[in-house]
Amino acid sequence: MRLSEGRMFYLANDDRPDRPHRFCWECGCDDTPRAATSCVRCGADLRTRRFLISVRWDTAGFEPYVAFFDKQLDHPGLVPPIDVFFQDGVLCSVTAWGGEGLMLDEGSPLSLDQVLALAQRATGMLAFLQANGVRLATLTRANFLVRRDGQYLLFDPEVAQVYDGPVPEAHRSIEVAHLGAILRRYTTVTASALHDFFLAAEEGRFASPFEFGRELEKLLADDLPEPPILAGAMSDVGLCRVLNEDNWGWACLQPGIYLYVVADGMGGHEAGEVASEMAVTTICRVARERLEGVPDPTDEQLENVLDEAFQAANNTIKEHSIRMGNDMGTTLVATLISHNRLALVANVGDSRGYLLRQRVLHQITRDHSLVARMVEQNRLTPEEARHHPHSNILLRTVGTERNVDIDIFRFELEPGDRLLLNSDGLWGEVEDEELEAILNTWSDPRVACRELIRAAHHGGGRDNITVLLINTPED
Ligand code: CA
Repeated sequence: MRLSEGRMFYLANDDRPDRPHRFCWECGCDDTPRAATSCVRCGADLRTRRFLISVRWDTAGFEPYVAFFDKQLDHPGLVPPIDVFFQDGVLCSVTAWGGEGLMLDEGSPLSLDQVLALAQRATGMLAFLQANGVRLATLTRANFLVRRDGQYLLFDPEVAQVYDGPVPEAHRSIEVAHLGAILRRYTTVTASALHDFFLAAEEGRFASPFEFGRELEKLLADDLPEPPILAGAMSDVGLCRVLNEDNWGWACLQPGIYLYVVADGMGGHEAGEVASEMAVTTICRVARERLEGVPDPTDEQLENVLDEAFQAANNTIKEHSIRMGNDMGTTLVATLISHNRLALVANVGDSRGYLLRQRVLHQITRDHSLVARMVEQNRLTPEEARHHPHSNILLRTVGTERNVDIDIFRFELEPGDRLLLNSDGLWGEVEDEELEAILNTWSDPRVACRELIRAAHHGGGRDNITVLLINTPED
C-alpha cells in the first residue's frame, strides 16, 4: 500500500474468494456459503475484515515492540496491534483497519484546528504510554492515522524500551521534542506564536508531555487567529527507495519575512538524511539569529543573511562529516520572501527553484551538475541530459568542501506569482510542461503539492520527492 521511511505498509483482506465458505470471527463456524452475508450458526455480520500490516526491518526495535504488544494497552487514541509475527527476518505488526488514511499522505500545513487536535491527541497518548512504561525511540508522521472525521490516531510506534513501572522522569522529554518537530512542520509559517512554541518544544524546552500540554493550553487561552495559507509542502520517500534523504523547512524570520528551504541529502543511511536535516535546521536558525534586532532590513542585508546562513550550514555539515568520518552532503535550495515583494532564491546542487508567472513556468536556478554544464557547453541537449547515465553527478554540494559558492537570484514579486522549490525526485520524473499544467490547475498549495508528488509517482518515483510551493497573494 505504501512505502514509508524504514517501513512498508500492506492492506490485507481476510476474504478468501478461493474458498466455498466464509469463516466467522465471532463463533469460528466456517459453514456459511460465500453468497451469505451473516453467519449460519450465530448470525454475526460477515463483512470483509481489513487489516493494516506494517513491516519493519530494523532489528533493534523488534524486542521492545513485542514487549509493547504484550502489554495489550487500550486507549481511544491508540490503534493497538492485534498481532505481531516474524517472517523472513522482518517484524510484521497487524492492526484492524477502518478506512483511515496515513498522515504521510497529507500535505502541510494543517488547519489551526487540526494542528491543535493533533497536539492534544498526541500529548495525551505520550503521557499514557509513559505512564504505562512505554518509551518511544522516535515519533514521526508515519506513526499517525487520520480517521475520516479528522481525528488522529497513534499506531505502530517505534518503541525504545518497555519498563515494568512508568517511564523514569529523566526520559520523558525526547518524545516531546519529536512531537514539536512534527507539529511545527504542519503549522502555517505565518502563525508565528504557535510556530515559536513548537520550535521551543523541538529544542527540548519541555521536560514531559504534561508540561508541554499545560503550556500549550496557556498559549491557546488568547484566541489565535486562523492564518492565511500561502505555502504548502510535502516530502515523499517515492516508490523505490527505503530511506527519505530529502528534507524541507520553513521559518518566520520577522513578521512578513519568511524563509523556505528544500534539501536533498546524499551519503546513505545516517548520512544523507542527517545532512539534509542539519542543513534545513541550521539555515533557518542562523537566518533568524542574524535578523534579530535588525528592523526593516535592506535587500542587501537580506541577501547577506541568506549567504551567511548557507555558509553556516556548509560548515556545520562539514564538521559533522569529519567527526563521523563519512562523506555526507546535501543540495540546498532556499527562498527568502520579504513582504510579498522581494524574492531571493539561492541554490547549491540540483534541487531547483521555479517561478510560475502569468501561468508560465520559468526555471530560476541553474543545476550545479555535470550534465547541466554539458548542456551549457552545447555537448548535450536538455532531453539527453535527462536520461544521461551520469545525470546524478553534482559539481557543487553543501557540506563537502570548506567553502561553498552559492548562486543567489533576486527579483521583484508580482501579485499571483508562485514559487516552487523541489528536489530532483520531482523534476527528474515530471516534464516542465506537466509541472506548469499542475500549478495552473490547483490553487491550494497543499493540493498542488500532493498532485506534484502523484505525478512524480506516475513518472516512476525512483527517487525521494520533496516539493514546497509558495503563493504570492493576488492584489
Ligand atoms: Ca534526490
